Amino acid sequence: MKRSKFTETQIVAILKLAEAVTQINPNAIELNARVMQLEQDESGVTVTLANGKTHRADILVGADGVHSRVRSSLFGEDKATFSGSLAWRGVIPAERHTEHLRAPYGVNWVGPGAHVIHYPLRKGELVNFVGILERDDWIQESWNDAGTIEECSNDFAGWHEDVQTLIHALDTPFKWALMLRDPLPQWSEGRITLLGDACHPTLPMLASGAAMAIEDGYILARCLDEIEAPVEDVLKRYEAARVERTSRVVRGSAENARRFHNPALENAEGAKAYVDREWTPERTQERYEWLFTYNVDEVKV
Ligand SMILES: Cc1cc2nc3c(=O)[nH]c(=O)nc-3n(C[C@H](O)[C@H](O)[C@H](O)COP(=O)(O)OP(=O)(O)OC[C@H]3O[C@@H](n4cnc5c(N)ncnc54)[C@H](O)[C@@H]3O)c2cc1C
Repeated sequence: MKRSKFTETQIVAILKLAEAVTQINPNAIELNARVMQLEQDESGVTVTLANGKTHRADILVGADGVHSRVRSSLFGEDKATFSGSLAWRGVIPAERHTEHLRAPYGVNWVGPGAHVIHYPLRKGELVNFVGILERDDWIQESWNDAGTIEECSNDFAGWHEDVQTLIHALDTPFKWALMLRDPLPQWSEGRITLLGDACHPTLPMLASGAAMAIEDGYILARCLDEIEAPVEDVLKRYEAARVERTSRVVRGSAENARRFHNPALENAEGAKAYVDREWTPERTQERYEWLFTYNVDEVKV
């Protein structure tokens, strides 16, 4: 039997989302539909799938992730460089933890060359674990590459007991090489546009890549709904409304990488001075206020 690449909890979440979408349009989702080619003309876009089937629509939104086929068809292959860091990821059912590891807030551990973040998901049912460290022997950028508990634990040898407890509660730790890319200056061409990681893949140090994809979707829907203009112009307006914010996330994430892994964290004295300086309420607010006060309903489109 082929092993699923998703955990049970992920499958439940995907099914709930699929149900909500198909209630609106029963034919909205087609599985095993890998887009291989796209062509546009004055009246629409045609995509050809790997199984030979074609689909035609008024517009095409390439929400196909960091290795986007739609992006490379429009603008050519991207230029990614390895950041020198690897991310360990996994979700843990919250009931496996004692109370303080299930607390309803995010916890960020920082150290020289590495950091760990954990926070509750789905109203506290799950704990998300991400451990990032500077390591240059892994360059696969994929959601599905599994490592072992032992390897992950070794990468955080000597870290606080909570970090080790979290690692040992994971079923499977996944590893993802973190790549750097400059923000794309252009997302749309004619009737085709991009959304999410396809147009602004980012390091995860502001924990906002998925949030940016959701915001993109909301603003794109507003543009299509509210703007009376040819679709080519509507897609340009969507891009214009989103490009500055998402570029700021890409740049801010790279800056946070340097902050989280700072050599000043090497010893207790240096670490205290660094944390006291960098994590005051004022400094934290300065870094995050713009990110968390964005209102998708108030953005001018
Ligand atoms: C270690 C790590 C930690 C992160 N932590 C956070 C966090 O805490 N908070 C946060 O907001 N974000 C976080 N992110 C970022 C977040 O996961 C991504 O930004 C988000 O998943 C992007 O969503 P997306 O829909 O654009 O792309 P994806 O989630 O990658 O989805 C793309 C989809 O397109 C499909 N696809 C690909 N090619 C084709 C094709 N040719 N035809 C048809 N379909 C195709 C894929 O199968 C996939 O289903 C993290 C990322 C990493 C790596």
